[in-house]
Amino acid sequence: MELSRRLFNEALRVIPGGVNSPVRAFKAVGGEPFFVEKAEGSRLYTVDGQELLDYVQSWGALILGHAHPKVLGYIKEALDKGTSYGTPVENEIKLAKLVKEAFPSIELVRFVNSGTEATMSAIRLARAYTKRDKIIKFEGCYHGHADHLLVSAGSGAMTFGVPSSRGVPYDITKNTLIAAFNDLESVSSLFQKFPEDIAAVIVEPVSGNMGVVPPREGFLKGLREITRKYGSLLIFDEIITGFRISFGGAQEMYGIYADITCLGKILGGGLPIGAYGGRKEIMEMVSPLGSVYQAGTLSGNPVVMAAGVSTLEHIKNNMEIYSYLENLGNMLEEGIEDLAKHKGIPVRVNRVGSMLTVFFTEEDVYDYKTAKKSDTSTYAKFFHSLLRRGIYIPPSQFEAWFLSSAHTKHDIERTLDAIKRAFDEI
Ligand SMILES: *Cc1c(COP(=O)(O)O)cnc(C)c1O
Repeated sequence: MELSRRLFNEALRVIPGGVNSPVRAFKAVGGEPFFVEKAEGSRLYTVDGQELLDYVQSWGALILGHAHPKVLGYIKEALDKGTSYGTPVENEIKLAKLVKEAFPSIELVRFVNSGTEATMSAIRLARAYTKRDKIIKFEGCYHGHADHLLVSAGSGAMTFGVPSSRGVPYDITKNTLIAAFNDLESVSSLFQKFPEDIAAVIVEPVSGNMGVVPPREGFLKGLREITRKYGSLLIFDEIITGFRISFGGAQEMYGIYADITCLGKILGGGLPIGAYGGRKEIMEMVSPLGSVYQAGTLSGNPVVMAAGVSTLEHIKNNMEIYSYLENLGNMLEEGIEDLAKHKGIPVRVNRVGSMLTVFFTEEDVYDYKTAKKSDTSTYAKFFHSLLRRGIYIPPSQFEAWFLSSAHTKHDIERTLDAIKRAFDEI
């Protein structure tokens, strides 16, 4: 890791913490990040020549693996015609149609450049549509870094959020109410307190940002009912789950439909993207049709659109990818549970399709509080033990592992073998 170390030291002099997104700095597990030279399929190749089996997959953005030939081909073709026009291109329509096909709750969709922009715009829109200011978000769910979403639960009882970052004025977060994931009671008590003030409930239908935490039976349905009852909108942040747990995301998997859906990650085929969409009457409030302002110089970028279209078309023509990923995921999950049981190590594996987290705790993990019970120092040892064996899992307990269609049964076997040894070391 000599060259990586040298590059990281150089990066520290010009970039805060040496990285352009905090989790990459390995703070949660200790040590220093490696630098990547190139990637292919399920593998990353570091600048020091190490080959790593990658379970991060650009934080879930890649479902076909790295450098998929078909996607690369489309990108190169688009690149040859220029990088950005600032005018409409046909692939924007193609991508919008693919999104609509996957998500029947989306009649109109607007493309932006990141997930952060998508959720920020969705909330602005929900506030305009309902003429209300307050929103509910769940403790442990992440929706990008917009001010009003960087909120965690205040001390004591859940209700009013407090800024979870310096630089966010309290005045901005006072309209963000915090509830507990999988706890409908915590949501209904907020609605009872503010029956006419809540514009929207925003949720990751399967949470991936406190580690993977699936919704309990009835949770999403309950959110659908309560928002309808109080004239509030339901926003699903499907930036991870969209096109990952099924083509139509959590909405297809659980049969619960949102008023506004946020997408990103896989949608851009590995290039920067976000999107938000919903019913026509809601989306028609967005400018230039309506008075909710939202714009983007590089939005709908032709190269990004080409990457998105080729990714989604490839998935659409190979829908067996989802059962393949389910089988691999199941093999990994059961393998880890068996090994842990055998070694007497307390773990909980939470998994939905190709997203999974190994929590080092005996207790069921169903919300932020229970996720926090995981032993993060054991996770850190586990992480480094696997990394030494050429397996790269997320450098934080509270992130999801992601499988891609480029992963093979053999990859999983190799991983389980490495995990067996790692369990001896932790
Ligand atoms: C990644 C993510 C975001 C933010 O997307 P960016 O493109 O990083 O801004 C928002 N919500 C969820 C659920 C995410 O996983």
